[in-house]
Amino acid sequence: MTARIAIIGAGPSGLAQLRAFQSMQEKGEDIPELVCFEKQEDWGGLWNYTWRTGLDKNGEPVHCSMYRYLWSNGPKECLEFADYSFDEHFGKPIASYPPREVLWDYIKGRVEKAGVRKYIRFNTPVRHVEFSDESQLFTVTVHDHNTDNVYSEEFDYVICASGHFSTPNVPEFEGFSKFGGRILHAHDFRDALEFKDKTVLIIGSSYSAEDIGSQCYKYGAKRLINCYRTAPMGYKWPDNWDEKPNLIKVDTDKAYFQDGTSEQVDAIILCTGYLHHFPFMEESLRLKTDNRLWPLNLYKGVAWEANPKLFYLGMQDQWYTFNMFDAQAWYVRDLIVGKIPLPATTEEMTADSMAWRERELTLETAEEMYTYQGDYILELIEATDYPTFDVAGVNKTFLEWKHHKKENIMTFRDYSFRSLMTGSMSPAHHTPWIDALDDSLEAYLAESSEVPKVG
Ligand SMILES: Cc1cc2nc3c(=O)[nH]c(=O)nc-3n(C[C@H](O)[C@H](O)[C@H](O)COP(=O)(O)OP(=O)(O)OC[C@H]3O[C@@H](n4cnc5c(N)ncnc54)[C@H](O)[C@@H]3O)c2cc1C
Repeated sequence: MTARIAIIGAGPSGLAQLRAFQSMQEKGEDIPELVCFEKQEDWGGLWNYTWRTGLDKNGEPVHCSMYRYLWSNGPKECLEFADYSFDEHFGKPIASYPPREVLWDYIKGRVEKAGVRKYIRFNTPVRHVEFSDESQLFTVTVHDHNTDNVYSEEFDYVICASGHFSTPNVPEFEGFSKFGGRILHAHDFRDALEFKDKTVLIIGSSYSAEDIGSQCYKYGAKRLINCYRTAPMGYKWPDNWDEKPNLIKVDTDKAYFQDGTSEQVDAIILCTGYLHHFPFMEESLRLKTDNRLWPLNLYKGVAWEANPKLFYLGMQDQWYTFNMFDAQAWYVRDLIVGKIPLPATTEEMTADSMAWRERELTLETAEEMYTYQGDYILELIEATDYPTFDVAGVNKTFLEWKHHKKENIMTFRDYSFRSLMTGSMSPAHHTPWIDALDDSLEAYLAESSEVPKVG
């Protein structure tokens, strides 16, 4: 009998899994039966933007953490699919830092070409996953909002690709309940124009803090203050942007910091990260980790060691994204179809993971971290037929990107890179990022007469 596989989520990771199986079928091989459950009404995961916050129209927590005017935070050359280039999708080279809508279009292009939409049941959140030792099957219970019907089906394998940048980590600070302005988590940030002419306090020092602050600056915030717990981001900020040590407390309109200073603020945005949250997994199957390069209990970063019929995709802290999800999806596919053997014992799997974890613990610089993730990806792709790509070249691109950010956090998106997949050079974008207020696909793809800024 054909094995049945449940895939949870049709974001970049879940779609990579569908494409991995379809690419095998394309070569004339039989594939298992695939069912992908997606709680949103369309695919693309976080890249599928919605204006909604809180609950969606079905009463489900809104998955989207993206916002208007979001542009890729790293060069697109670092995330390019090895089997579907930007040149192929857009029919010409495009600039290196596309806005969200452009990347969403690219993600969709590959799976439309592959014809895998038929495997996805939209508007269908997974409610519960459990495993029976007796039948050796998973029972997956879902809520079909199209028919308002809750039902269960049995599967031989489950692949969880539900993402981990959607459930906000929300600390509380003294005085929050008396603060007179808006307090929100980055997950609920949608449009920087809301903060035009306002003084905004941003708590945190991650990508979200840097990017949401930059958005607010670009769209006219009066003043920005960001505060950190351990270390400042340390970029050269514009004149109306200050970095301070941690927040101690707030009152109705003022924030007080560890260095003894205080500031009047209109709004507070918590860029305090996200939780790995899998409420639908039975206890023995539930991944528990913080955001790190090597979560434990996952052999090769994907197979649940205690029961390797369950897989998690994309659960690592992410330098690499789309092509890492691909490397994982191809590897999971080959574990499932038996092309790659699993170690005979759980102990061997754990020993392999622990070696990666020990190396993770020695990493100090950003360069060491993305090199580590690149090595992990190389190990996976060397074991499958995923097209080999120049991982060292991607690492070099990351390094240049870091230099550009250090040089000027408001201009790093104006640089261009060469594709590591096709070798073509990206053109310059027609408008510097700071002046490009229209982030639509049409505006982005308009022809440029600028000379690319490289180096
Ligand atoms: C604000 C922000 C900006 C980012 N910017 C970039 C960037 O510029 N470049 C980059 O490469 N990466 C970026 N990322 C990283 C992002 O994690 C990846 O690009 C990518 O979206 C991860 O894909 P995924 O499929 O693993 O998860 P997601 O994109 O989160 O997709 C998970 C899918 O699972 C579905 N799902 C969740 N729970 C259930 C359930 N119970 N039942 C059924 N379906 C479910 C969701 O609806 C969703 O469609 C950004 C992330 C955030 C939050």
